[in-house]
Amino acid sequence: MNTVVISPHLDDAVLSCSTLLEAGPTKIITIFSGPPVDHSMLGYYDEVTGATSSRARVFERTHEDHEALDGLVESVVRLPFKDAQYLQSPTAAEVADAIAINLLGADRVVFPSALGGHIDHRLARDACVLGVAEGLFPECELTAFADYPYASEADGWPAWVRTSDPMGLHVDADWDGELAVLAECGFSLTPVVRRLDDAAIDRKLERSRLYRTQFDALDNESGRVSNRENLMFEVEFKLSSNGSVVSPKGVARELGPEVRASPRRASGGIIASLRPKIGRLLGR
Ligand SMILES: [Zn+2]
Repeated sequence: MNTVVISPHLDDAVLSCSTLLEAGPTKIITIFSGPPVDHSMLGYYDEVTGATSSRARVFERTHEDHEALDGLVESVVRLPFKDAQYLQSPTAAEVADAIAINLLGADRVVFPSALGGHIDHRLARDACVLGVAEGLFPECELTAFADYPYASEADGWPAWVRTSDPMGLHVDADWDGELAVLAECGFSLTPVVRRLDDAAIDRKLERSRLYRTQFDALDNESGRVSNRENLMFEVEFKLSSNGSVVSPKGVARELGPEVRASPRRASGGIIASLRPKIGRLLGR
């Protein structure tokens, strides 16, 4: 199976989909890889992580990504769209087109579900759903991954991930709200939990640390990335539809460039509706 992982930022595929990448063959399309043109630009997050020039920082991060993915994936496409901190975000339609022309030969597309609500992750998800709604990704199996570390940062992974116990099914509103977007667009979701053994956790941690300019800030004082209990799981949602997928609310090509991201949804109760499917968790 030719799998393409859509990675919003340079480190997201490694952080969220290491099991998939190791299973290969995999191609990664990273969306927000473009350096700002303005040499004096310093984005807020680059400043937090100690950069003095965002333009230089993007090239530094690209080298880190090259090192982290070396020998792990078949190919990498880094699209030149700008990270939200550079205030030049593309539209979902622009991103959908760029993904589509790089998908030839793919039969599985894995994209972020945007758990945690990061604006770039939402834009990546919405672009993929728009692409599906417009028939730009034909014949591809679709999977949405749980965004690490955001998906487990509130209070670790939900009980049903840790124990496969449907009775323990409980997540915070962020999960419900973001997954409801997929359900509203016409997808039915089936959760898949992958459990990493000690060696797989070590490999993932080692690769994650290669993103040297990002790791400490991402891990922060709580160890949200390096916590081995959190690293023990990766979660995906297999997506199926009856063919009538629509683009997310507020995301449509004809609405023009002013529409840049879908608004946050209220809790939709989508997780509760998954309860009958939890017994079919795979990959453990
Ligand atoms: Zn990211």
